[in-house]
Amino acid sequence: MSTVSTTQSARSLLQEYLSDRDEPCPRCGYNLRRLQNDTCPECGDALTIRVGLVEPRLGAFITTLVALSVGTGAALLLAVVGIFEAPTNWWTGLAGIALLILLVFAGTGLAIALALRTTYRRATSGVQWLIAMGAIAFVLAVGTVIVVGFD
Ligand SMILES: [Zn+2]
Repeated sequence: MSTVSTTQSARSLLQEYLSDRDEPCPRCGYNLRRLQNDTCPECGDALTIRVGLVEPRLGAFITTLVALSVGTGAALLLAVVGIFEAPTNWWTGLAGIALLILLVFAGTGLAIALALRTTYRRATSGVQWLIAMGAIAFVLAVGTVIVVGFD
C-alpha cells in the first residue's frame, strides 16, 4: 500500500470513527465529533488515527528519568553552592570528585535515556526495571558519598 493511499484511508477511518463519537482534541480539548478533514478546527493541529496500547507501562522509564533528574539537579545545586562556599581543595577530595561524577554521569544518563527512549521501551520489563533500579542505586550511592563528605 502506498503512502498516499495509507494517508487517505487513515483520514477516512478518522472521519468515520469521529462521525458518531464525542472525542476531545488531544491538544486543545475541542470536541471532534463529525470532523470533516484531518485537522482540528479549533487549534489547527493535524490529527491521525492509530493503534495504541491500553496500558503503556511507562513506570520503569519514568522512574529512570526521575532518578537521573534528581541526581542531575541535586548535583547542579551542590556544585553552585560548592563554587561559592567550598575551599578549592574540597573539589579534589572524595565528596568533590563524587559530585563531579554524579553531575557528569546522571546528566549524560538523562540525555541518553531521552535519546534512546524507543529502544528502552522495547526492552523487556525486567531489563527496564534493572536500568531504573541501577539509576536509583547510582544516585543514592554517589549522593551518600557527597552528603557524608559535605561539611
Ligand atoms: Zn485542537
